[in-house]
Amino acid sequence: MAPSGSRSIKKGCQRVLYWIPVLFIALIVAWSYYAYVLQLCIESIEDTGEKVIYLLVYHVIFIMFVWAYWQTIFTRPMNPLKEFHLSYSDKELLEREDRGESQQEILRRIAKDLPIYTRTNSGAIRFCDRCQLLKPDRCHHCSVCDKCILKMDHHCPWVNNCVGFSNYKFFMLFLAYSLLYCLFITATDLQYFIKFWTNSLPDTQAKFHILFLFFSASMFSVSLASLFIYHCWLVCKNRSTLEAVRSPVFRHGIDKNGFSLGCSKNFRQVFGDELKYWPIPVFSSLGDGCSFPTCLVNLDPEQPSSPMGSNPASKGAAEGRQFPTKPLRESQSRLLTSTPSWTESDSPLLLPSSNPSLYFLQKP
Ligand SMILES: [Zn+2]
Ligand SMILES: [Zn+2]
Repeated sequence: MAPSGSRSIKKGCQRVLYWIPVLFIALIVAWSYYAYVLQLCIESIEDTGEKVIYLLVYHVIFIMFVWAYWQTIFTRPMNPLKEFHLSYSDKELLEREDRGESQQEILRRIAKDLPIYTRTNSGAIRFCDRCQLLKPDRCHHCSVCDKCILKMDHHCPWVNNCVGFSNYKFFMLFLAYSLLYCLFITATDLQYFIKFWTNSLPDTQAKFHILFLFFSASMFSVSLASLFIYHCWLVCKNRSTLEAVRSPVFRHGIDKNGFSLGCSKNFRQVFGDELKYWPIPVFSSLGDGCSFPTCLVNLDPEQPSSPMGSNPASKGAAEGRQFPTKPLRESQSRLLTSTPSWTESDSPLLLPSSNPSLYFLQKP
């Protein structure tokens, strides 16, 4: 084993190396700003009206893009609350037991008081050895961050951060604005790109910036569009990238649509209930990241066969009761409980007996 000193040097070097992709993106963005604003708009465009409109629209998109990128990078991923960590006595108890089944018994006893509904493939309680905690639903241990991350989507090297519950909305906006940024540059640069090939541009260095600007913006547009469309689909289905690869396992078995509440509610779970916050990179996701409302059925709620989709009356009834009255603690689900259209704290819950297709995150 390497001495701890050299290990910390290695870790320090790794931390520096992880910033290289972010630096690479930052340099490309800085160059694109110089090429678009100075070389294209100021140096090459002669029409003042066109110049002003391009610069105005460009700067609005640029600010939103950089803001969303900044938020995705610097928003700390959320870790499980202390309720999910093992107490000192539980740790001791667990260490004393060497049989897997006895350890599971202890974990099951602790999990009884927590809103945990997913299991491992073998049906065991999901436990993180490294963090010594019971993993909340949708939480995974990130080997790069060396932490358990709430609703972990993936570890993104381009933002040198884990994308999860705390910054998934920012990541979506980052994809949307960067795509818009590239599409806007491609569209407005096109006519000058054509002029380059017809030799109608003045023979200055600006023409090479115009050429590379078009190539890079159109290339990034294609890759960003495919990534953005994929994540839009994930949002509509209420799946993380990890869950799209491996479906979550509930007590009743594997259910890839276990967290899906229908497209509109799935979208609002990430972007919030207030339309004005949807395009802005400020946190507005609903819930506490530790517990999630779910339809514990194998049916997709977006399918017409589901009563939610087929019967407007039952859909209306489900509207108010879709979310648990107390997902974990009222204070932890501020966003959830402060949304009257999503919860009715005193309303009776629909139970499987009254409607077999709906089963809510409520402890029996
Ligand atoms: Zn962990
Ligand atoms: Zn990570």
